[in-house]
Amino acid sequence: MTKPLEGRVALVTGASRGIGRAAALAFANAGAHVVALARTTGALEELDDEIRALGGTSTLVPLDLSDAGGLEKLGPALMERWGKLDILLANAGVLGSLTPLGHATEADWAKVMDINVTANLRLIKSLDVALRASDAGRVILLSSGAAHKCLAYWGPYSISKAAVEALGRTYAAETATTPMKVMLVNPGPLRTRMRAEAMPGEDPQTLRTPEDLAPHLVEIASPSWTESGKIFDFPQGKVLTPQMPV
Ligand code: NAP
Repeated sequence: MTKPLEGRVALVTGASRGIGRAAALAFANAGAHVVALARTTGALEELDDEIRALGGTSTLVPLDLSDAGGLEKLGPALMERWGKLDILLANAGVLGSLTPLGHATEADWAKVMDINVTANLRLIKSLDVALRASDAGRVILLSSGAAHKCLAYWGPYSISKAAVEALGRTYAAETATTPMKVMLVNPGPLRTRMRAEAMPGEDPQTLRTPEDLAPHLVEIASPSWTESGKIFDFPQGKVLTPQMPV
């Protein structure tokens, strides 16, 4: 049987651990060539070993998402090597400090916005040509329930994820007449380092894992996926259509 992502090229940001790592492995297992981006080279090399053990292939991109010049080169490099990019999983993110807005530092705000929002805009700018060159370009951006709940003390992170949702929906509108599909994903609480940082008192064993989410990311990344500009909400297990207030 043909694998669902056979022959696809998938760029995964934040592939060194957590959701990105599980997605990279699932994409490779589904037949995609994975371009794995993160800062931690050792973890990327371990991922590469695991992908090879599955019979898959990967290209490692050790890069800091705050490196605007590095991101600018990505699209042209992918075009030169493959002539397209089929899947962008814009997953990497940072939590920043959990603090009242009145105490949020400009440095923390700038870092959260730079990695969670601006880097994703830079990725879209760099990769747009390659994504449109695919016969079924798929863009998946990781959002969070925090974008909607706006909990006390989660300000910069919540605001950054609300911006990610606006970014994804805008890109979906701009690509509506093309074969591309752009989806947001709310993973809900999953057992990762970020979640442990946010909720140190929580027992991680009570949470679902990135491996539980990964098959859904494969489905959304596949050419047969038809929705765009919507949110896949993993806790509810369904696609939500963002509502305009009336
Ligand atoms: P995680 O375990 O902390 O992993 C974050 C990933 O992002 C790592 O691979 C990290 O790689 C990468 N990253 C961070 N800063 C980077 C930078 N400057 N340059 C390049 N890569 C960078 O987080 P996670 O829980 O898997 O979260 C993944 C996504 O899901 C995030 O967008 C998060 O907001 C969202 N999310 C998670 C949960 C949850 O419960 N886990 C809930 C809602 C939303 P390096 O450190 O190696 O660079």
